[in-house]
Amino acid sequence: QIIQIAIDGPAGSGKSTVAKIVAQNLRITYLDTGAMYRAVTYEALNNHIDLDDSTALRRLVDEIDLKITLESVNINGKDCTEAIRMPEVTQNVSYVAKDAYVRKKMVALQQKIAGDQSVVMDGRDIATHVLPKAPYKYFLVATPKERAKRRLLELEAKGIHITLEEMIAEIEARDKIDQERATAPLVQAKDAKLIDTTALTIDDVVQLILADVLK
Ligand code: C5P
Repeated sequence: QIIQIAIDGPAGSGKSTVAKIVAQNLRITYLDTGAMYRAVTYEALNNHIDLDDSTALRRLVDEIDLKITLESVNINGKDCTEAIRMPEVTQNVSYVAKDAYVRKKMVALQQKIAGDQSVVMDGRDIATHVLPKAPYKYFLVATPKERAKRRLLELEAKGIHITLEEMIAEIEARDKIDQERATAPLVQAKDAKLIDTTALTIDDVVQLILADVLK
């Protein structure tokens, strides 16, 4: 039996962490689609491409060689696993992700990776565009303050210190661009189950999803 699970939601809602553990539990493939948009953004910044220049972005995604596994992100033969998490990438990724051609290419690649196999994918448009027929769809949310706190902890572990207010502002700015873009905006799919993770632990959310999938 093929199990395809779509997990969407805004930044810091817990998607990636939860999706990875759900995939491990079910022994199926996990794909972090955010990492793909981050990889394109990293490469664009490295090549000093103007992020509004859709022709240059088109050329870049037509030529990029992207290899994403559970442990690593490789761009044109270079290991960029850590680099795509840099604040500069985070602050710019939503501008790249709103480009229609970039999205078309990434969605095609994601659908090719999923194929007919079991997969857990997390992102912003998985239930609405990438795997619209997936039988299991979840939309994770949490208050901006809670999401910012989670991101702060992640950054602090890397030695990057910013204030909670700055983090909230950054998260809200990114959400706004993701929600207001013309192509595949961030929205809960009609048939996706809403999970508010504000007061839940990672394990709570994992158990909710596993119980639903295995019922
Ligand atoms: O999930 P993560 O925070 O790494 O995603 C980074 C950015 O990539 C998001 O803010 C969004 O702009 C974009 N993204 C997207 N569609 C997806 C996954 C990510 O537009 N499926």
